[in-house]
Amino acid sequence: MTDTIADFHPLTAPVQPVFDTVRTRSAHEPEFHQAVHEVLHSIGPVLDAHPEYVENGVLERLVEPERQIIFRVPWIDDAGRLQVNRGFRVQFSSVLGPYKGGLRFHPSVNLSIIKFLGFEQIFKNALTGQGIGGGKGGSDFDPHGKSDAEVMRFCQSFMNELYRHLGEHTDVPAGDIGVGGREIGFLFGQYRKITNRHESGMFTGKGTGWGGAEVRTEATGYGAVFFAEEMLGVHGESLDGKRVGVSGSGNVAIYAIQKAQQLGATAVTASDSSGYILDEDGVDVDLLRQIKEVERGRIVEYARRKPTARFVEGGSVWEVPVDIAVPSATQNEVSEDDAEALIANGVRAVSEGANMPCVPEAVEAFQSAGVLFAPGKAANAGGVATSALEMSQNASRQRWSFDASERKLREIMADIHDASFRAAERYGSPGDYVAGANIAGFERVAAAMLAQGVI
Ligand code: NDP
Repeated sequence: MTDTIADFHPLTAPVQPVFDTVRTRSAHEPEFHQAVHEVLHSIGPVLDAHPEYVENGVLERLVEPERQIIFRVPWIDDAGRLQVNRGFRVQFSSVLGPYKGGLRFHPSVNLSIIKFLGFEQIFKNALTGQGIGGGKGGSDFDPHGKSDAEVMRFCQSFMNELYRHLGEHTDVPAGDIGVGGREIGFLFGQYRKITNRHESGMFTGKGTGWGGAEVRTEATGYGAVFFAEEMLGVHGESLDGKRVGVSGSGNVAIYAIQKAQQLGATAVTASDSSGYILDEDGVDVDLLRQIKEVERGRIVEYARRKPTARFVEGGSVWEVPVDIAVPSATQNEVSEDDAEALIANGVRAVSEGANMPCVPEAVEAFQSAGVLFAPGKAANAGGVATSALEMSQNASRQRWSFDASERKLREIMADIHDASFRAAERYGSPGDYVAGANIAGFERVAAAMLAQGVI
């Protein structure tokens, strides 16, 4: 990733000072700079058409979180030793609704990561058309290799502080890297204990037996594949018969693989931080789920059990020739070299299941080569959109069926695609989904900020 983002894509005069202030005020936060720069670059033409957004300081306010909470999380491990982690919640914007965004538990978590994710979340949530603001949180706690009891003690300690900042009308977390069904159960349970309230709508991604919505687990991966299908559809193509490459082997990756196969493609890869597997027969989702979700094992285990698969230790999954790529692991996982390799192998479309998985140079390479490219804030918005459906079902005490929820998700992804596509056309960048998604999200947020005064 470049350190000189500003030289890479120069900004227009009205936004340059805003970016300069971000860099000065939030020094040492490169991921946050990267996310802000991309949005500020995209919205240049909108600001030309709407000088009132500049005159009323919409941008200066937008890049500064409404509230940032950093806290100590002490807990005792199985050997009786005290451990201390750091907890975060960045409540970025509530102009469209309660703060909404996941919690990430991973050793790499720091303020820069949480701010970039929270900032992206504002526009992603606006794009869904639902009433949800943007936020994100997490901890540098690493659930890998911890016992269930250790994870529970950590989650309880984390919630002992965070609960006072949450609520169905205030801030509604969900899962992200390292936070799945097990962690959400422990976090929700502790919130219920401390507050003495069964407030279903204060957390999404809950178990379907206790307030969770059908399809929430599958929604992010399914949505990223639906978005790829929408992009291909514009050109009269489909996923049927295509070869798909997926990175990661967690929540997003598993269900991206499943939906791609259901739509007639062959998904041939999955990965984790140790390497990737290639299965020319198509990844067996049941086996992958057994290893990752039930046994909490490593991806190498898949190759040990499946004769048609091989494990490549430490390799880049993007060296495998595919028609469609769905990066679904983490930020900045697709380098410029990876992008060049995918392009040389004839990739047709890239749909980001993860948040900001492609470095700016990779995005530029895909777009210059005419590869259809969907940024995460549009392509992976199905997760948060289905979280908003979970909140609606909790509020009305209804339960929708799996099929009805999936139909709704597909409709939402088509709407996000169309909104991004049209916004890009309207502002002179046809086919540029990065510009389109940033513009469509920004327009909704900026109009609401203007209407609600200087807050
Ligand atoms: P999971 O924890 O379920 O899975 C993450 C996967 O990515 C694991 O296979 C993990 O491997 C791999 N990974 C994580 N960090 C790294 C790293 N630094 N290097 C290499 N591999 C890594 O997370 P999710 O599937 O929920 O999230 C994946 C991405 O999707 C994230 O960017 C997240 O922000 C984004 N996202 C998730 C949503 C959701 O609903 N869950 C919604 C929208 C976006 P290992 O076990 O080796 O670490």
